[in-house]
Amino acid sequence: MLDLIVIGGGVAGCSAAITARMRNLETLVIYAGGGALEKTQKIYNYPGVPAVSGPELLEKLRDHAESLGADMLHALVTKVLPMGQSFSVLANNEVYEAKAVMLCCGTARVNPLPGEEEWLGSGVSYCATCDGMFFKGKRMAVIGGSEDAVEEADFLADLGEVIYFQERKHAIDKLAPAIQRVDEKPVSIRRGDGHMVVVTDKGEHTVDGVFVLRPAVALTQLLPEVATDKGHLLVDQDLMTNVPGVFAAGDMVGNPLQAAKAAGEGTIAAISVAQYLRKLG
Ligand SMILES: Cc1cc2nc3c(=O)[nH]c(=O)nc-3n(C[C@H](O)[C@H](O)[C@H](O)COP(=O)(O)OP(=O)(O)OC[C@H]3O[C@@H](n4cnc5c(N)ncnc54)[C@H](O)[C@@H]3O)c2cc1C
Repeated sequence: MLDLIVIGGGVAGCSAAITARMRNLETLVIYAGGGALEKTQKIYNYPGVPAVSGPELLEKLRDHAESLGADMLHALVTKVLPMGQSFSVLANNEVYEAKAVMLCCGTARVNPLPGEEEWLGSGVSYCATCDGMFFKGKRMAVIGGSEDAVEEADFLADLGEVIYFQERKHAIDKLAPAIQRVDEKPVSIRRGDGHMVVVTDKGEHTVDGVFVLRPAVALTQLLPEVATDKGHLLVDQDLMTNVPGVFAAGDMVGNPLQAAKAAGEGTIAAISVAQYLRKLG
């Protein structure tokens, strides 16, 4: 049982992990990708680090968190389950447990396709490594949301036949030659007679399984209990959400979307977690 699981390894998540470790909390950071910083060429207003590139700042933040003993895991979190006074966090089909959770997932917004959540676990999967073997020798559709999906599609192509849709434009030059690229926009997923159907703007494609591989998960899927307002998480002054033990920091909490603000909130939220855990006993 960990003290804290931080979901997101950007500025807010790393900052939270740094302060959590200074408070001696057993901390795991689970991150799916580089977040906003990875797309930022140069930041000129981050205190103490003038004219730093986004990826360089990200590396410094992660090294700092790790050097203080935070564990970093590269994986997509698909579910947070409140379990009374603790939480189960599902990432890549493994379950991690902690007394508190912090959401630092940035601005990545996901609008699930109609039918996607309905058939999740029975024809739709978010994880190629976890579920690929169930479709060995079968026909699969990959709906890719970012370049990270390409590697997973290549893995699936070793198991069976794969057709690839781009939900958002991204580089696909590393797709295995055997994978069929379909230049159509997926609009929904439904179940047919013993198979799945990807409905696009131009037609329908029948497959055995559908892998939706995005770098983020809809909040309605991740933690539906959490309250939002106009797309941002609602938090109190300690940065705790309406779910006791679930905290949030950074762009998820709202404007201004700035790195220094995300770092500050990560620190505040980590101190709040320490106080919350002390009260919990
Ligand atoms: C092009 C651009 C330029 C910018 N320029 C500036 C600037 O000059 N100055 C400035 O202060 N700010 C700037 N910003 C904004 C700044 O980068 C953000 O405010 C800051 O990075 C937010 O930090 P965050 O930790 O909240 O989110 P992010 O840094 O976006 O981190 C989110 C993290 O959550 C992870 N994640 C999301 N969902 C999941 C999940 N389900 N499971 C696991 N991990 C998940 C992501 O992979 C990522 O690691 C810029 C942003 C952009 C895009």
